[in-house]
Amino acid sequence: MYDNTHEENTLLGIDTKKRVLPAVMAGLLALNAASALAAESRTAPPPLVIVAGNVWDGLADKALGPMEILVRDGKIAAMGKTVEHPADAKVVELPDHTVTPGFIDTHVHITLRPQYEDALWNLSPAYKALLGVEALGILLNNGFTTVRDVCDTDMHGYTTMDLKRGVEQGLIVGPRLLVAPHLISTRGGHADGTPLLSADNLPWQNNLADGVDAIRQVVRQEASRGADWIKFGGTGGFSSPADDPAQVPYSQEEMNVLVSTARDLGLSVSPHAYGDEGIRRAVQAGVRAIEHGNMASVDTLKLMEQKGIYLVPTQMAVVRNARNADNDAFWTEGKPAYVRAKYRKYSRDIMESAKNLAQSKVKIAFGTDLGTNPFVNNNGAQEFSELVTNGVTPLRALKAGTSVAAEMLHQQNLGVLAVGKAADLVAMPGDPLRDIQATEHVDFVMKGGVIYKSNPPHSN
Ligand SMILES: [Zn+2]
Repeated sequence: MYDNTHEENTLLGIDTKKRVLPAVMAGLLALNAASALAAESRTAPPPLVIVAGNVWDGLADKALGPMEILVRDGKIAAMGKTVEHPADAKVVELPDHTVTPGFIDTHVHITLRPQYEDALWNLSPAYKALLGVEALGILLNNGFTTVRDVCDTDMHGYTTMDLKRGVEQGLIVGPRLLVAPHLISTRGGHADGTPLLSADNLPWQNNLADGVDAIRQVVRQEASRGADWIKFGGTGGFSSPADDPAQVPYSQEEMNVLVSTARDLGLSVSPHAYGDEGIRRAVQAGVRAIEHGNMASVDTLKLMEQKGIYLVPTQMAVVRNARNADNDAFWTEGKPAYVRAKYRKYSRDIMESAKNLAQSKVKIAFGTDLGTNPFVNNNGAQEFSELVTNGVTPLRALKAGTSVAAEMLHQQNLGVLAVGKAADLVAMPGDPLRDIQATEHVDFVMKGGVIYKSNPPHSN
C-alpha cells in the first residue's frame, strides 16, 4: 500500500492528511503555505525508491510493466525491474498506477482569465501575479511539472518573468516555467489591446512593433528581460475584437527580421497563427513552432513535416469551440459575440485541418491555451483526450505532452524517464495508453525529486 507517512512530512514538512481535501483550492493553499518550508529545506532529501505497478517512459511504444525507480539528488539514479534500495531510502509504493514523465503544457497564460478579456487594463501587475500563483498551483496539482507561458497582457512590465523567478527561488510552488513574455503584435493586430478602449486616451504598450526597425527593438527588449521564447502575432485571432484569424499582419520581410533577430540572440520563435498564409509565411521565416495552426492546409502541414517544425494545436480551446460553434448551450460563459461569430465562420476549416493533422507526421506538442479558459475546475490534461477525439493516437498524444514537448522546448533533461534525467514524474490509476482519460486523475506528482502531491485514493 501507499505509504504517505514519511516523504511529505520530511520533505515538505506538512501534514498530508490535512492537505488531501477534495477542493482544489484547499490543496493550493497548502501547497503555497508549504513553499517557504520547501525553499528552506533545500538540503538534499534522502534517496527514494518508487515501486510502480506500471511505467511508461515518454518514448516507448508500449507501457513497460512493473518497475522500480531510484531517485537521488533530484534525478533518476536507476531504473529497472528492481533497483538498489539504499539503507536510508524512502519507499513509495504505487500499485495499480502508471508512472509517466511529468506532463508538459507548452501553451498557457497563467496571468489571464476569460472573465478579464475585456478588462485587462483594470488589473494591476500585482493582481495578475496573484492569478499566476493560483494557476501554477493548479497546474502542478494536475501533473504538469513544466509549462511554457506564451504571453502575459502586462503591457508595461514582465509579471510572468517574475513568477518564473518566484518558482525558481522557492517563493511559490509551481511547475518549471519557460516564458515568452509578450505577444509581439502590429498595431491593430492580435495583441493590440487598444481596440477595446476609447480612442482618445490610449496607453503605451511594450509589445507593439510595425516595421523591421521596431521589430528588432522589441525582440531585443524581450531578450534583455530574460525571455526564453519570442512570440508574435502571425495572424489575427478569435478572442481579439478587431482582427480576423485569416489576416496576416506582418509581411514576409518583417517575419524574416523578427526570426533572425531572435536567432542571433539564441532564442526560438513561435507565432500565434491560424490562417494558412500566416502559418506558411512564418514557416518560411524559420520559426521553431507554430501556436494553434488550426487552419493549416495539407501543403503547409507537409512543409512543416519536411522542416521539422512543431505544432501546438491547442485543441481543447480551438477545436472544441469549432465543434460547438452551432451549439447554443456551449456559449453560455459570457464570451463576446464576436468570438462565436468567428468560430461559426471558420469551424469547417478548423475541423478539416484537425483531421489532416491527425493523418500527418507533424510533430505535435501539447498545449491547452488555459487562461483563455478558466484554470479552476478545468484540468489541462483534457487536451490529451481532445487530441485523441480528433484522431491522434493515444501514444502520439502522450508523447506530445512529454518527450516531444521537452524536445521542442530544448529541455533534454525532461519529458523522458531514464537514468540521469530530472525526477519529474507523475502517477495515475490505470493505464493512459489504454484509457487516455486516466491522465485526468493524476494523484502523485514529483518535480525535481520533491513530492508535491501524493494522495492515491486507497491511501486514506
Ligand atoms: Zn494562447
